[in-house]
Amino acid sequence: MLQIDKYFPNTYEESRDEFRHLLHKIQKKWPDASLSTKSIGQEKDNTIDTIYSEALESNEQVVFLTSGEHGIEGYAGAAVIRMFVDEYLDQVDPSTAGICLIHALNPWGMKHYRRVTENNVDLNRNYFYHPDSIPLDINENYAEESNLFLPNGKVKDIRKEKTDLYHQLSRGMAEQGYQGVKKAKGMGQYEFKRGVYYGGTTQEESTLYLKDKQRKLLSTFPRVIHMDWHTALGPTNEVTIVVSEHDPRNEDEMKADYQVQNIQKFTPQKVKGDSTNHFYKLKNEEFPETHLFSALFEFGTFGADREAELREFTTIILENQLYWEGAEREEDRQWILEELKNMFYPPEAEWRESVMKEAQLAIESVLTKEKILK
Ligand SMILES: [Zn+2]
Repeated sequence: MLQIDKYFPNTYEESRDEFRHLLHKIQKKWPDASLSTKSIGQEKDNTIDTIYSEALESNEQVVFLTSGEHGIEGYAGAAVIRMFVDEYLDQVDPSTAGICLIHALNPWGMKHYRRVTENNVDLNRNYFYHPDSIPLDINENYAEESNLFLPNGKVKDIRKEKTDLYHQLSRGMAEQGYQGVKKAKGMGQYEFKRGVYYGGTTQEESTLYLKDKQRKLLSTFPRVIHMDWHTALGPTNEVTIVVSEHDPRNEDEMKADYQVQNIQKFTPQKVKGDSTNHFYKLKNEEFPETHLFSALFEFGTFGADREAELREFTTIILENQLYWEGAEREEDRQWILEELKNMFYPPEAEWRESVMKEAQLAIESVLTKEKILK
């Protein structure tokens, strides 16, 4: 049994320290491995940390693990990366495999327990192959329902506001408004800077950083295997693999290939600006010979039914309102922040144990199938 506590710290700085200490372990196998830190944003000391090495003899493939694209989700992601180094490094052959590990693609969000960047941008809606193709009026449903998605004054009475939101959303969910809410989540929106699911109108520094890494790995290795760790989506206490439509296999084929219960495929008609989609697009356009596997791995919290979805939208909307407008009562502020943690970084031992257990299943099945693990 793994010691759960040691993997789940409470602050961004602790998590980053632990990550930086992995360098020594990795250098035992890849003596030239290096740690690079890249400052991101206005606040000093927010960094993206990357440990990287090429293979020792021939660059046949690379294992690429990333965390914290959605800030607060980075705690679990960083835990999984550390567990991977502790438990699986011995099974990777450094003579033919390189390694690239990233801690906190969105360090500000991780530090402040938000999903978005300091510019309120959902990073995973900010990746466009042609940056000038960022759509400005992509989501007409969002504009129609904007009273829901935009902050409008301080949180005054959490019980009342929560009930009102539930009613508004479930009324919407029963009718066509449901599709509007779903669409806003998947497609993002590019008009309202202070609204939820904002994808930004220019490229975030973190986006440019990851794009560089994607290009570097695709140009260095003929096989690139990427696991991007996230939280919240899918059945409670289970892992769900979310794959780009660019993967030619259907969901059932992938379930058989990886022996995983939960697989979801998304399409650019439903999701815009996603980083794994960008990875595949870049590969197809510029490195067509390269083999790429890239997917999101989500650890479910609230669950996958409608009730869970309502709770999720309510949490996201209230947290955004709290961030921009504040709350009149301290207990309401605390309630919202706690609910946000319940959604993206639950304190319960049961959930944290499931993260480790499910991550092991995913790592073993994907990295064995993809020939990273011996
Ligand atoms: Zn996420």
